Amino acid sequence: MTDRVHILYIGNSHNEQQQLEELLRQALGDGLLMTWINNFNEALWPLEACYYDLVFLDYRLDGRDTIELLRRSSSMEERAMPVIMLADNDDHLDDLEVIRQGAADYLSKQELSVSMLKRSVRYAIERKRIEQRLLTLSHFDPLTGLANRNLFYLKLTDGIIQSLRGNKLLALFFLDLDNFKEINDTMGHPVGDRLLQEVSARLKSSTRASDTVARLGGDEFAVIATHLGNETDITLLAKKLVTSFNEPFTFGNEEIIAHTSIGIALCPTHGHDPDELLRHADLALYQAKAAGRNNFKFYDSELDARAQEYRALEQEMRYALQQQSFTLHFQPMFSIDGKNVIGVEALVRWPHKVRGMISPADFIPLAESSGLILPLGEQILEMACDEINRWKQLGLPELLVAVNLSPIQFADQNLIEKIAETLRRKSVSPHLIELEITENTLMDTSSDAIERLTKLDAMGIKLAIDDFGTGYSSLSYLKKFPVHKLKIDRAFIMDVTTDKDDATIARTIIHLGQAMNLEIIAEGVETEDQLDFLRKEGCEQVQGFLFAKPMPSDALIEWLPKYLNSMMQTA
Ligand code: C2E
Ligand code: CA
Ligand code: CA
Repeated sequence: MTDRVHILYIGNSHNEQQQLEELLRQALGDGLLMTWINNFNEALWPLEACYYDLVFLDYRLDGRDTIELLRRSSSMEERAMPVIMLADNDDHLDDLEVIRQGAADYLSKQELSVSMLKRSVRYAIERKRIEQRLLTLSHFDPLTGLANRNLFYLKLTDGIIQSLRGNKLLALFFLDLDNFKEINDTMGHPVGDRLLQEVSARLKSSTRASDTVARLGGDEFAVIATHLGNETDITLLAKKLVTSFNEPFTFGNEEIIAHTSIGIALCPTHGHDPDELLRHADLALYQAKAAGRNNFKFYDSELDARAQEYRALEQEMRYALQQQSFTLHFQPMFSIDGKNVIGVEALVRWPHKVRGMISPADFIPLAESSGLILPLGEQILEMACDEINRWKQLGLPELLVAVNLSPIQFADQNLIEKIAETLRRKSVSPHLIELEITENTLMDTSSDAIERLTKLDAMGIKLAIDDFGTGYSSLSYLKKFPVHKLKIDRAFIMDVTTDKDDATIARTIIHLGQAMNLEIIAEGVETEDQLDFLRKEGCEQVQGFLFAKPMPSDALIEWLPKYLNSMMQTA
């Protein structure tokens, strides 16, 4: 028991006060100090001031029951004092209700004894101590002493209510360090912890006492500010916060640079609900980072709408993969005189119930960023194999099938095995498959790329460089790779008869390719003039709407014999 116990007694009877004080003195010793209040209204303030160690509250005061006083006292939450309720036997006190309203204990005045008071007081004070500790733990981050996620949510909810009620702006700043993981990994967790403590000190010193600064976990922090009148003020605080991180953090001899990026969401402008505001601030933070870090961004609903559309499309793409709704179209590739169909390029299509046929230009990037390109790529190769087998059964002439390979697929460790396994399972000869990869795919994975291409080459699979001319365009590096074919990008063919530069590029690719013994195909040939140019320059293969558009397999099956027939007749 502490040396001096300061007790507040609230009750009408002087006799009872004297009696209680005497018993308590016997129970707790001479360190006891008792203040007596015998009036309902006078009791209000001391209960809220939370100054005493313990309160004895008579259930009857000035002819009313004191549940209201008890409620007020416990509404002080972590600061609330333990209250022991005293009742007469004929008060018919609802003991459970009293405990529910926050009393630590209730005692019958008729049964008071020294031993009972000793026990009750000790329990009440001790339990309050534990409660307070728990409350601290559940509301504050032990490392930084800042509000934790729980208290942050309470404060944010409270702030939102105030903001909506008072028509005032609330700004939620959500921030993290741009390089915390690196610092933690390279300098160790103790330094990481100290950095987080320093960070919270800087945030505190840049904000007002009435603002809430919280640590939400890891290196994620939030500031709730309600005193800022307009966006200009909010921008100023955001700048202040960002620049407060320009100064390096010093630990002994070490200096650490740790910048921050901030996402800002406003209530009511950007939302009325804590989760929504936090989600919007998080999105804005993501955008701040995407815009180069060490800066801040306000939430932007347009960008959010796009992000949501992407998420929805990704979900639909997952479903379409499961349902195997993707299909292939095939665009024939020709010898320059048009007499031979050398093969077909497989181009993926997504027939969508609502959006109609979605172009690969619209969903391949999403498939790549979400990783879905891997299962999609496998389905594409399987479908290509199935068609090859179908055409064979129908007695069509053998066609080379060019399949596009995304850089993500090329970087997949299991690429070679997967392709080999699919071809084996579908009984398709590798010499019927050509893989189209872009120049940049080769540049990115450098040494590993050679090994992979060599393995594919050894399997008998042909390799074509797609969109040639748009990427790194170094013909010399091509020597290092076992490549069979260059595909001149449509962008150069489009204006090849009118744009001198494009003509020069196309000519150079054709001539250098020939010198290196590579097949050359021009894609996107739409006019006779373009075809003339290519023929004169010695290009051997063409693909484009001038000859044939991409078509479904059924259409190809009908088209191919007719086309070959017509060629025989013109010959
Ligand atoms: P790409 O590989 O360069 O494919 C050629 C694109 O040009 C195709 O568009 C084709 O329909 C179009 N095209 C062909 N000839 C002409 C022409 O004469 N004029 C015009 N204006 N266009 C022509 P598509 O099918 O929309 O494919 C677009 C891109 O999507 C492809 O460009 C490729 O990068 C990607 N893609 C398509 N299918 C697949 C696939 O199965 N896997 C992967 N990873 N990517 C694919
Ligand atoms: Ca292609
Ligand atoms: Ca292309």
